[in-house]
Amino acid sequence: MIVIKSQADIEKMRVSCWAAAEVLQAVAALVQPGVTTAQLDAAAGDLIKKYGGKSPFLGYKGFPCHTCISVNEEVVHGVAGKRRIQYGDIVSIDVGIVLNGYVGDNATTVAVGVIEPRTQQLLDVTQQALVAGIAAARVGNRVGAISHAIQTTVEAQGFSVVREFVGHGVGKRMHEDPQIPNFGRPGDGAKLKPGMTLAIEPMINAGVSEVQMLADGWTVVTADGQPSAHFEHTVLVTEGDAEILTWLKKSPFESKAR
Ligand code: MG
Repeated sequence: MIVIKSQADIEKMRVSCWAAAEVLQAVAALVQPGVTTAQLDAAAGDLIKKYGGKSPFLGYKGFPCHTCISVNEEVVHGVAGKRRIQYGDIVSIDVGIVLNGYVGDNATTVAVGVIEPRTQQLLDVTQQALVAGIAAARVGNRVGAISHAIQTTVEAQGFSVVREFVGHGVGKRMHEDPQIPNFGRPGDGAKLKPGMTLAIEPMINAGVSEVQMLADGWTVVTADGQPSAHFEHTVLVTEGDAEILTWLKKSPFESKAR
């Protein structure tokens, strides 16, 4: 069942999404050669606490970190640890926050210095796919319109869509209906209605679409070892353009993150 958010729900979602966006931006700014993924995760944990929130990831089915930090060939759900970021890496950071009972969810992929041209193209394409997906999140369309827009954007430029992991509705729970695959046909899935809040999150590979799970039971890597990118926004479906709730245009906070 897809939850349609009331105006009161939406106001709470705005706050949790702004906080999630501010924490993501602050953690992304800490990415530099030499820093460990554990240090980035600890900083995120401290910031989430400063905002009065909690990480919805920590303890989720036993997940051990506040954030998911996935480097290079790691696709999603990377477990932070001793790995040191190196010049030329790409680092995907997924930050969620539960605040006032509502979840905000967003992710970005950061380039560490100058990266391989093909990898830079991967980042560009994944962002373009997210934009295309958000543009398709309109009343009158179905969920599949989002999926189709992402898939066609990505595949037209020779990149591939991860099939095993999908976007999702988000609200009181981190994962609500509907599932939002990053591939599909425009006629698939539920009709979009005002008041739906959706986490749209293309996970895109430079090489093959297949992925594998590492022995830690969490970290997902590309089957061919080529890099993968991940960008995510939480959006609100409206009568007009979808509103990006995790966009830092006017924060209600005196930023605690910077
Ligand atoms: Mg998500």
